Amino acid sequence: MTTTSSSSEARDRDSAGRTETAAANAPDVSRTWFDYRLPLSIIVLNVIGLVALVFLVGWHGVSRTDLAIFVSMYFLGMLGVEVGLHRYFSHRSFEATPPLRLALAIVGAMAGQGSPLVWATTHRKHHRFSDGSSDPHSPMPRGPGLAGILTGLWHAHFG
Ligand SMILES: [Zn+2]
Repeated sequence: MTTTSSSSEARDRDSAGRTETAAANAPDVSRTWFDYRLPLSIIVLNVIGLVALVFLVGWHGVSRTDLAIFVSMYFLGMLGVEVGLHRYFSHRSFEATPPLRLALAIVGAMAGQGSPLVWATTHRKHHRFSDGSSDPHSPMPRGPGLAGILTGLWHAHFG
């Protein structure tokens, strides 16, 4: 039995030498509009929030309490994504007690980027196949010309 390996397969090997197709070992799932509900809901909610912000600032103005809540929630969300979803759930960079684990999951989920399980799974796949065709965040062109560039852009942002 002979095996062949193209240069693109060699490029897409992970650190253990597995190819994307062998190592990913995930079922082939075709996407429907339903699979885009999370990124689309994030976009829609942000647009609604921006419109509401313009009306509320024009109507009530901005108080110190408003700014304090905004800054606190912003940093809490950032902490949830970076410390919780990224460093703890994806990379297990530190030990966490169950209450801390729960707190990190809650503040991580507040960012609206999916559950900690989905986030960590996607992120681990991103590290394993960086800039290969199985990298869920790679913006690399997915074909020739402008269509390939736009397809890569779409893939990097919506999977
Ligand atoms: Zn990472």
